[in-house]
Amino acid sequence: MRAPDLFDQAQELEELMRAEAIERSRWHGGACSAVACECGAEIPEARRRALPGVQTCVDCATAMERGKRNRGSFDAV
Ligand SMILES: [Zn+2]
Repeated sequence: MRAPDLFDQAQELEELMRAEAIERSRWHGGACSAVACECGAEIPEARRRALPGVQTCVDCATAMERGKRNRGSFDAV
């Protein structure tokens, strides 16, 4: 009856280590990137990986870029 106990312990330890590794990778991978945009839209993981620290969804980023450009032209006028 001892072997199954040992096996359970080893498995438990392995699970613990795996959870810790996931936690660590999550911490490093998405420390600054927002999971969801302020508009409520989810930011795809691919976008978060491509742009570390990204805070906005594609739509908002596009709108922001457009707004900046518009404001810039207004300032010029
Ligand atoms: Zn958004």
